[in-house]
Amino acid sequence: FHTDTNPDVEVEALLKREYERQTTGLQLIASENFTSPAVMRAVGSVLTNKYSEGYPGKRYYGGNAVIDDVEGLAIERVKALFGAEHANVQPHSGANANMCVYQALLEPGDTVLGLSLDHGGHLTHGSPVNASGLLYDFVAYGVGAEERIDVEEVRAKALEHRPKMIVVGTTSYPRRLDPQPFKAIADEVGALLMFDIAHLAGLVAGGAHPNPVPYADVVTFTTHKTLRGPRGGCILSKAEHAKAIDKAVFPGWQGGPIENAIAGKAIAFYEASQPSFSEYAQQIVANASALAEALVGEGFALVSGGTDNHLMVVDLRPFDEELTGKVAQSSLDEAGITLNKNTVPDDPRSPFVTSGVRIGTPSVTTQGMTEAEMPVIADLIARALRHREDADAVAGVRDEVANLCAKFPAY
Ligand code: PLP
Repeated sequence: FHTDTNPDVEVEALLKREYERQTTGLQLIASENFTSPAVMRAVGSVLTNKYSEGYPGKRYYGGNAVIDDVEGLAIERVKALFGAEHANVQPHSGANANMCVYQALLEPGDTVLGLSLDHGGHLTHGSPVNASGLLYDFVAYGVGAEERIDVEEVRAKALEHRPKMIVVGTTSYPRRLDPQPFKAIADEVGALLMFDIAHLAGLVAGGAHPNPVPYADVVTFTTHKTLRGPRGGCILSKAEHAKAIDKAVFPGWQGGPIENAIAGKAIAFYEASQPSFSEYAQQIVANASALAEALVGEGFALVSGGTDNHLMVVDLRPFDEELTGKVAQSSLDEAGITLNKNTVPDDPRSPFVTSGVRIGTPSVTTQGMTEAEMPVIADLIARALRHREDADAVAGVRDEVANLCAKFPAY
């Protein structure tokens, strides 16, 4: 009954096209990466055929001896990698992981403090269009002087609103997040502390960013960004929250776990525990610094003046007052440079238009690029944007991009 002899040529052709797009263009989306062939093999393995509702040793279906070992391995590896007391590796995504934590530790209507979306937070940190904002009473904090998270504002808001939980985590924030000041505030007001390190997980695993696990009640993350694993989510917590979190994931939010993805997570945790991954994480940060400096040299401004991590948010206005994030994104797409439009703090333009773009270095670092290539990338970006109305010039940049990528094959 299999269709192997009559393959779906349409999807095959789409897979080929996307492979070509990814490998002949510059991938600068801060939340993306090139996962390893080993991870992709696991994700495409027979584990996709198996139902395994429940947890290792406590399943609702038979035939789960191997699956239990797969999930057990992922759990033990991620606990060791981050020094966590408990891990749940089943969340299908980062958004799911966050909602599961809220269900585990909050009641609907509880007050929660979270970074506002337009200052670098995530939709699941209380945006009014997201279930988090609909179910819980989120109070937003933002960035203050020098466009850095204002810990004094967080403290003042915590004292005023007495939240049950403080959420710390960022999607487009280029600066270091030290856990200690947030822990002190959470302790002062008796709040739970949750860190969402979706973007930072690989940097934390590689020792290139402070680890919040010793300080926070719960730490969530995605496995597919700097951590370079398959698409998915993960929750780490103190042992005292283990039962509530496991119950919120299954049966609270999800049905059968995606064990093929969990095998991919186990491999990613193994890869991230190798010494070479620390070098990788340091190189991501070094590349981001070098790219930031080169972009400033091209006349761009950077939100907060620079970066301490894997990403930067570019304010396009000093480069070209007329240039919106939306136009920059589509012009760069034409030149084979993939990134995303992004609001800058207090952006006068809408989130669909924006005055900025976000740029990250995880993917190009996986390809083996170093500080030497970053001024080249900055020059390609600047030229593609300056000459965006000139099709020949854009095509020329596109060729140079393809030549650069050919020297650093992703696979
Ligand atoms: N949390 C943060 C901080 C994120 O940046 C993201 C994704 O961009 C998520 C959660 C959600 O992850 P997912 O897209 O896997 O649901």
